[in-house]
Amino acid sequence: MNFDQLGLIAPIARAVRQKGYAKPSPIQAKCIPVVLNGKDLMASAQTGTGKTAAFVLPILQLLSEGPRPSPKHIHALIVTPTRELAAQVQTNIVEYSAHLQLSNLVVFGGVNIRPQIRQLQRGVDILVATPGRLLDLQSQGAIHLDAVQILVLDEADRMLDMGFIHDIRRIQKLLPKQKQSLLFSATFSKEIRQLAKTMLQQPSEVDVAPRNSTVKTVRQRIHPVDKGRKPALLEYLIKENHWHQVLVFSRTKHGANKLVKLLLQANIRAVAIHGNKSQAARTRALADFKAGKVDVMVATDIAARGIDIAELPHVVNFDLPNVPEDYVHRIGRTGRAGAAGEAVSLVCADEIKQLRDIERVIHASLTREEIAGFEPQHVLPTSKQLAKSTQHKPGGDNVARMNRQRKNKTQRKRSARNRKPNAA
Ligand code: AMP
Repeated sequence: MNFDQLGLIAPIARAVRQKGYAKPSPIQAKCIPVVLNGKDLMASAQTGTGKTAAFVLPILQLLSEGPRPSPKHIHALIVTPTRELAAQVQTNIVEYSAHLQLSNLVVFGGVNIRPQIRQLQRGVDILVATPGRLLDLQSQGAIHLDAVQILVLDEADRMLDMGFIHDIRRIQKLLPKQKQSLLFSATFSKEIRQLAKTMLQQPSEVDVAPRNSTVKTVRQRIHPVDKGRKPALLEYLIKENHWHQVLVFSRTKHGANKLVKLLLQANIRAVAIHGNKSQAARTRALADFKAGKVDVMVATDIAARGIDIAELPHVVNFDLPNVPEDYVHRIGRTGRAGAAGEAVSLVCADEIKQLRDIERVIHASLTREEIAGFEPQHVLPTSKQLAKSTQHKPGGDNVARMNRQRKNKTQRKRSARNRKPNAA
C-alpha cells in the first residue's frame, strides 16, 4: 500500500514523499479513505502512530476542491488540548499543504490575541485552536464558526482530563449541524464514548492498537530505587549510558524545577517545560532540546502532551503518574513511527499503587532491574507479594517484614566487608 493508492491527489502525495514517508502508517491507511468519503470517524490512536497526517491529508484534499472561505470564516477546525500540540499540528499542515493554495492558522492562549484577530480577518481554510482562545475569539466577533465543514477533536481523552468538556460543548453549539466530525483519542473511556455519541453521526471506528496497549517498539523497564536516591540514579544513567535527548517526566512543576537545578549542578544540560513557564519559554526550551543544545527536558504531563520529536530515544519517568493512562501517553513519546525507543521508570516503594495500576492498564508486568549501588532499602513489592500481604493483613505487614529483612541483609553485607582485611 502506498499513498497514491489511498486516493490522494498528486500535490499531497508529493508533499508526503518530500517528508520521506515510504508508506502510510496503519492509522493513515485506515482513516484516510474514510475521511475522503465524507464519513464521521472515531479513531483510537496515540501520538507517534502518524495520526496527525491521518486527518490532515484528507482534510487538505477535501478543502482543496471547494471555494475559499469568506472573511472571518473557517472551513476546517482542529481543536487540541494544548498549545504545543496545536503548534505541532499546524507545522504538519504547513508541510503537507506545501503544493496547495490553502491558508492555515494556529491560535492559542498565552500570547497576544491582536495578531490572531488580524489574521482571521480574511478567513482561513484550516484553523488549529485550543478551546479557550477559540471561544475568546468567537465572543469578540473575530471569528464565525457557521461555515465549518470539518471538525477534528484531537486527543479528546486529554481534553476531558483537562476539564475542557464545557468548552467543547459550547464550541459544538456554535458549529453548523451539517458537517463532518472526526474524533481522535488515545483511549476509549466511557466518557469519550458518551461525547462521541453526541457529536458523531454513524461514525466509522478505527482502532489500530489494542486499547491501552503501549507501543510495542518501546523497551520498558523499571529501576526500583529509594525516593531520595532518584536524582543520583538519573544522573548516573544519563552519564553512564551517554544519553542525549532524554525526556524526563515529573509529576509536579516544582519537582521539575528542582530536578533541573540538580542536573545542572551535575553538569548535565537540562531545561524544564511546564505550565508555569511562558509560552515563549516553552517554545524556546523545545527548540533547544530538538536542536541538541540541551540533553534533558524535564516536563510535566500536561506540558509534554503533543510534543513531537522524531525518534526520541529515551523517556524517563522520574515519578510514576497518578493516572495510569498517562503512562501510556508518556511512553508514546518514544519509539515513534517504528523507531525503537526506551522507557525507563524510577520507582520507589511509595509508588507501588501507581505501578500496580499501570501494570493492570497495560496488561503486563514491567521488567525490573536494580542498578548496582542504587539498590533500595525500602523494597518495592511485586504484585504477587502485595496481593499476599493485603490478603493476610490489610496493613501490609509482609512488606514491612521484607523491608526489615533487606535492611538486615545489607547490614550483614556491610559488616562482612568491613571485616575483610583489605576492605576499602
Ligand atoms: P503523529 O502520531 O502524528 O504525532 O506522528 C508521529 C511522527 O511520525 C511524526 O514525526 C511524523 O512526521 C511521522 N510520520 C507520520 N506519518 C508517517 C509515515 N507514513 N511514515 C513515517 N513517518 C511518519
